[in-house]
Amino acid sequence: MLKFENVSKTYKGNQYAVKNLSFEFDEGEFIVFIGPSGCGKTTTMKMINRLIDPTEGSILINSQNAQEKDAVKLRRDIGYVIQQIGLFPHMTIQENVTLVPKLMNWSKEQRKERAKELLELVDMGEEYLSRYPNELSGGQQQRIGVLRALAADPPLILMDEPFGALDPITRDTLQDEFKNLQQRLGKTIVFVTHDMDEALKLADRMVILRDGELVQMGTPDEILAAPANEFVEEFIGKDRLLQSRATVQTVEQLMNANPITISEGATTSEAVQIMREKRVDSLLVTNGNGTLKGYVDIEMIESNRKNTENISDILLSKLHTVNKDARVRDSISRILKIGVSF
Ligand code: ADP
Ligand code: MG
Repeated sequence: MLKFENVSKTYKGNQYAVKNLSFEFDEGEFIVFIGPSGCGKTTTMKMINRLIDPTEGSILINSQNAQEKDAVKLRRDIGYVIQQIGLFPHMTIQENVTLVPKLMNWSKEQRKERAKELLELVDMGEEYLSRYPNELSGGQQQRIGVLRALAADPPLILMDEPFGALDPITRDTLQDEFKNLQQRLGKTIVFVTHDMDEALKLADRMVILRDGELVQMGTPDEILAAPANEFVEEFIGKDRLLQSRATVQTVEQLMNANPITISEGATTSEAVQIMREKRVDSLLVTNGNGTLKGYVDIEMIESNRKNTENISDILLSKLHTVNKDARVRDSISRILKIGVSF
């Protein structure tokens, strides 16, 4: 879907902002670029939608060279969300959200229908259609920014620190909401952040950048299990590495001792009931395909009781995901006698 071949960018002929980047992403992947400020994240995003062109190398979108495509046409296939969403204050939410469909000459009825549909995706009712941006909270405005990028149903969405300006609680909510939304819509997302928690929570795969260069690429679990160097280790943080290793250990112990599973679609009450029946205090959690996702224990359920009845939310919020290395995978398949497809 998206491929970089030895892409570099220098501004005004000086230093490299992005240096020799190569990677390939599949359709439907949630990719997160992460790195400290100034490492070339925004430059990378701008090259994808041709706000700037690379100095060297090429960018392919669906096997077509992006630089050879008309930039305006290209941008219609790419949604773009940034931190300063820039909703137009004199336009209603409906008008703001359907800017691109309007450029594409959708009829008024089609646009209204689409705006309603989009608001529904984030549980905002029709009553918001006629409001103005200043009548919305920061979190709601940012949701509208995201919906605007989704409006014409582009296959690829670029998001440059979209939740960076929000308070931590709103930010957390929007991350969960957006991750769910992406799983339902199956869009390819390229998301930029400098926040490790956000990256680990959202990414299918992460690309870690430093001074314009790719340092490590992999799933969050791969990166947690084997940081490429000290820079990555430091960026992840000692606490998080220890927690991740503890999680893997717990899962391995559970698999060996008492492998009772529950589906991530179940409720916490159901989990508590099973724990009582089986006289255990933790359960392994699998998804619909039988893939192991992590574990829940009584303490995790208790501490989230006020927030959620969904086991999948607890896994998301706690990052209790399972290490996906081959050794663990093999023992999971052996003990649970299920196919494990990470
Ligand atoms: P990030 O988004 O990761 O913070 P950027 O891609 O914005 O990083 O910037 C990467 C590097 O390129 C930085 O050193 C920055 O100063 C430089 N840079 C970005 N935009 C320009 C520009 N328009 N002109 C000159 N240098 C720039
Ligand atoms: Mg930036």
